[in-house]
Amino acid sequence: MAATIAVRHVDAETWRVEYRFAQAVSAIKLPAVADYRQQAWRVRTPGMKLQPGAEFDVISAHGKPFKSASIDITSYDGRPPKAYAPFNRFSDGGTLLFLGHLQGDVLRAKREHEMRADIRLAGLSQENVIAPPQNRQHPGGERGYAYFGPAQAVRAGAVKVLVDPKTPEWARETVLDTGAKVAQYYEKAYQRPLKEELFITVSIGSDEKPGLSMNGGAVLGQLAYHFSGAQLAGDHPKKREMLARLVAHEMAHIWQLNTARGGVGEKDPWIHEGGAEAMALDALLQTGAASAESVNAYRAAQTAACEKLGKSVESYNGIYACGLARFDQLGVAIVPLWRGLMEATEAKGAVYSERMVQDVAASQPAAAAPSGGD
Ligand SMILES: [Zn+2]
Repeated sequence: MAATIAVRHVDAETWRVEYRFAQAVSAIKLPAVADYRQQAWRVRTPGMKLQPGAEFDVISAHGKPFKSASIDITSYDGRPPKAYAPFNRFSDGGTLLFLGHLQGDVLRAKREHEMRADIRLAGLSQENVIAPPQNRQHPGGERGYAYFGPAQAVRAGAVKVLVDPKTPEWARETVLDTGAKVAQYYEKAYQRPLKEELFITVSIGSDEKPGLSMNGGAVLGQLAYHFSGAQLAGDHPKKREMLARLVAHEMAHIWQLNTARGGVGEKDPWIHEGGAEAMALDALLQTGAASAESVNAYRAAQTAACEKLGKSVESYNGIYACGLARFDQLGVAIVPLWRGLMEATEAKGAVYSERMVQDVAASQPAAAAPSGGD
């Protein structure tokens, strides 16, 4: 179903979203994102309402058909664990808004149709607006983060970056240096240059809470980092090490997604998450971005965490820890394995699956069990 989604920044905290559909629909059905829409979305169209659900949030007009819907979204600071953060705010007032959460299915004559969205963005006057790359795999499908704010992206080598002015030097250096090293390694190892320019953003949240929180989100052609917490200030090798691991992990997703078709699916997240963990540890070692000692220690800690979870990939931590363990136990080297998975997903158009992992692994020569090297 063709749709136009116009997103206009109307005041500092509000974005107005206008949906227009080619044909009348009876409902808009969007995958739920914790309490995001309940908290931050307000339906403006008279007679229309948003019904939050455990799996889906539904916008409808008591069953009456409609061709347009208007919604105001106010900025939201929640960070739902299994979804892209709806908003990433910068310290200079800039904002990243995740467009994927505006997209989903529509209902027409009781049948579901995927929205094929043409997204149009408009900022406040004087504001810089940067659109995320188009979705090449599914034209009109899910897009990444749109930027609204005062900053201009700058080019750093092969990537475009937008870094919050409050980013501490150690974090800026780690994101850029480890990012460049690891990207170069993945390109060579997986024999795949990126299909489009990568846009990297770093936003800094509040430093009022104790501790250190570092998140990353990889979408097609985009990588959004968000750091917050009192411990962000001050350089320390341990913090650089943690961040380097995050960078290598997120960059691995960029390569998993760097295929003409197929790629990451909705099911079995242990494949892309555990896979990214394994790809990251290999890249950190091979590029010298982390020592063998630190890679070994991390792998041992994750293996222990997985044992505690009963080797299950059902929990959030299990997806990562036991996902990594599953790749480690396949007994094949991670680079040829993922090179084979990328070739298989592209050849078949099917997303990465457990079956595909097993088939590709079976076609590979056995390798020594992974370790940090010696
Ligand atoms: Zn991940």
